[in-house]
Amino acid sequence: MISCQSLFKTFNQLEVLKGIDLELAEGEVVVIIGPSGSGKSTFLRCLNFLEAAGSGTISINGQAVGTKEGSLNKLRQDIGMVFQQFNLFPHMTVMGNIIEAPVLLKKMTKDQALQKGMQLLKKVGLAEKAEEYPNRLSGGQKQRVAIARALAMEPKLMLFDEPTSALDPELVGEVLGVMKQLAKEGMTMVVVTHEMGFAREVADRVIFMDEGRIIEQGSPNDIFENPKQERTKEFLGLL
Ligand code: ADP
Ligand code: MG
Repeated sequence: MISCQSLFKTFNQLEVLKGIDLELAEGEVVVIIGPSGSGKSTFLRCLNFLEAAGSGTISINGQAVGTKEGSLNKLRQDIGMVFQQFNLFPHMTVMGNIIEAPVLLKKMTKDQALQKGMQLLKKVGLAEKAEEYPNRLSGGQKQRVAIARALAMEPKLMLFDEPTSALDPELVGEVLGVMKQLAKEGMTMVVVTHEMGFAREVADRVIFMDEGRIIEQGSPNDIFENPKQERTKEFLGLL
C-alpha cells in the first residue's frame, strides 16, 4: 500500500527528513512514535503530497506521489487524513461535512452520500448529531466526525496525526475505540500518537523516529519491552 524510499525533506536550511524508508502492506497498522520535532507530521504530509518531498520516491497503492499533476485527486481519494485539530468546516452541519467531498468530487450522488454518511455516523456512534454544527460538539465527537468524514471517500489508507492530542483525557478513549474498530476491520493505517496503550494493542508494527530518521522499528513487544537503541530506551523512559 505504501512504498517509500530514501525520503528527504528540507525546510529552508533545516533538514527535517533524512532518508525515510517504509514499506507497508495492505491491512497493516503502523504506529509512529517519537519526540516533538522529529518529522512525524512532515512524513505523513509527504505521503499525501500536502508537502512535496525533497528527494526520494513514494508510491501509494501503486501510484507515484508527486510526479504528474493529474493524479493528485486520485491519490487524495485513496488517502483519508485525520488531524490533531479536527479541521471540520464550521459553517456546515456534521452531515454537511461528511457528504461535501464525495458529492463535490462526484464520487456519489447526494442521496448515496447521505446514506453512506448516516451509516458512518452510526459506526462512530453519532447518528443523532447529523444536523448539529461542529461548535456544539465535544472534542471527542468532533474527532469522530472527522474520522467519518475521511471514511466517506472510501479511502484505502488512513493517516492519523496525533488524533487525540488535543482532547481532554476522558474523551481520548472514544476516539481510540473508533480507530481500533477500523483496524480490526482491516483498514491500512499509519498513526502518529503518544498513546502507547493503543500502540501496544493495535499496531502490527511500531516505528520510533528521531531527528528525521527511523531509529528503530518492530513489533510492539520489540519496541516497548526490548528496545535495542539507546535513544528509543531514553524516549520510552527506560533508562
Ligand atoms: P513532529 O510532527 O514530529 O513534531 P514536524 O514534522 O511537525 O515534527 O516538524 C519537524 C521539523 O520541521 C520541526 O523542526 C519543525 O519546526 C519543522 N517544520 C515543520 N513544518 C515546517 C514548515 N512548513 N516550514 C518550516 N519548518 C517546518
Ligand atoms: Mg506532529
